[in-house]
Amino acid sequence: MQPSLRRLTQTAVAALALAFGAAGSARAADTQLLDAARAAEPALIQSLKDMVSIESGSTNAAGLAQMASFTEARLKALGAATERIAVTQGPGTMVKGTLTGTGKRRIMLIAHMDTVYGPNTLATQPIKLDGNRLYGPGIADDKGGIAVILHALAILQAAGWKDYAQITVLFNPDEEVGSLGSGDTIAKLAEQHDVVLSCEPSAGSVVMKGQPLLLAAAGVATATLDVKGRAAHAGAAPELGRNALYELSYQMLQTREVAKDVPGAALIWTQANTNGPLNQITEKASAVGDVRLTQPDAQDKLQAALQAKVSASKLVPDTETTVKVISGRPPYVSDARSRALAAKAQAIYKEIDRELTLVPQTGGGTDAGFAVRSGKATVLESFGLAGFGYHARDEYIEIDSIVPRLYLMSRILQEIGRN
Ligand SMILES: [Zn+2]
Repeated sequence: MQPSLRRLTQTAVAALALAFGAAGSARAADTQLLDAARAAEPALIQSLKDMVSIESGSTNAAGLAQMASFTEARLKALGAATERIAVTQGPGTMVKGTLTGTGKRRIMLIAHMDTVYGPNTLATQPIKLDGNRLYGPGIADDKGGIAVILHALAILQAAGWKDYAQITVLFNPDEEVGSLGSGDTIAKLAEQHDVVLSCEPSAGSVVMKGQPLLLAAAGVATATLDVKGRAAHAGAAPELGRNALYELSYQMLQTREVAKDVPGAALIWTQANTNGPLNQITEKASAVGDVRLTQPDAQDKLQAALQAKVSASKLVPDTETTVKVISGRPPYVSDARSRALAAKAQAIYKEIDRELTLVPQTGGGTDAGFAVRSGKATVLESFGLAGFGYHARDEYIEIDSIVPRLYLMSRILQEIGRN
């Protein structure tokens, strides 16, 4: 295409988009789905109350077991084949539900069963309705996400929708502690799907209007520096020793700016340790650093940059330094496909006269990072209910986000199935 023609076409497309936007080109709401979403609101609220009544902090094995039983029974009631998948560490199990349809697409829905709250939090922060707010520990993060999945699937089932090859639901018990025991399972299952919708809560209206979806979240990793020196009597023969603590200090300082040259990586050394006696030249010393990642390849590049710096020079001869970057939760980064899906979600909100906001980035981690790790599935985050106060006190969801979120989830599943 010639440049002038391309320009003309771009102008025409832009004008067309403007015209449609101005004319309010949103397609009409699917009234059957919208009516079903409205009708489902009381049942969804009851599901929330049932789940919040089960205290399921990440270390609460009994509560997590109860949540697994609850969600598994609900998935079974939807006609899903269910299974428990063991976590590789920590308490609780994953619950997986599989629905088989007649269409082409493989879709995965994820949410987590654990909360950040300790036992007996309900005693001081009971379930309570106040206007548009329904309060309860974990109600937004992430029992609202589980509720959206269960009730949207019920709506679609009642509508006779089967236009998917497979829908996989996965609830994990350890999101709030980094999904260390479930992250790999999420990543491997996600690879086998076309689309993953993650159902963490959406920001409440006190933070942001428009019940936003999230396009990116930082990943986390841990950097470690280990230095091996040589012990010697600090008073009698210090010259025979090789001070690992001095070398560690040198390596921390010489690597402290390395991440600045690695796009999408940040590193801060936050802890240092030695374990020898006071009167001995330090034999071993180690440091740990907090790493934040916003690009998929940033971890490998940071590892390489740290290794190069550490190998380049040392302060104390004969010491050995090892540097490692250990994976935590990978970054969640949207691509053109997930942004197109987000635009579709905005159009669906328009059908019911709502504006949907897109948030470009957050510092908090999400399991969408595991889902996007292989780059195979299209991943989009924050399909849960809008709310506030999570990881704090007096957590709540906004009642008026229930119908839009049920409509969004059921409509976007239909759209994904169709395309
Ligand atoms: Zn969460």
